[in-house]
Amino acid sequence: MLAQTEPCRWQGVAVQPYKEDGTLFRGVSRQTLFEGGAELPVQVRVFEVQEGGHSTLERHEHVHVVMVLSGSGRVLVGDRVHPIGEHDLVHIPSMTWHQFRPDAGTSLAFLCLVAVDRDRPQRPTDTDLDLLRARPEVADFIRT
Ligand code: MN
Repeated sequence: MLAQTEPCRWQGVAVQPYKEDGTLFRGVSRQTLFEGGAELPVQVRVFEVQEGGHSTLERHEHVHVVMVLSGSGRVLVGDRVHPIGEHDLVHIPSMTWHQFRPDAGTSLAFLCLVAVDRDRPQRPTDTDLDLLRARPEVADFIRT
């Protein structure tokens, strides 16, 4: 049992920087709520993206299942940008570009389910970016 102590904070759970390898993101924190083992090899994480921030634009073999906890924003999934709000569920398929951004005037908190055993994220090459930017709505949305 892990009780919520205040909005988006849980008993004994550290609020960590999103990533420590210098990849490009802005205003993002991470909390790990569940670290699975052999019986259930998944992690449950909560990410918060502050107003004006964004998650890293990336893709990887592993998949994500994401549920928005609070706030609203938009998510890039492949070559589409979708509006997202509280309790919407987002599936990020394997090798699919993705990035989360809150709407103006709000932050965005979401729960993300991921396998413990997973590959490292890939960042877009210049060629990948050219392909992504072929769609104007994607070109306007992405942050690198
Ligand atoms: Mn990812």
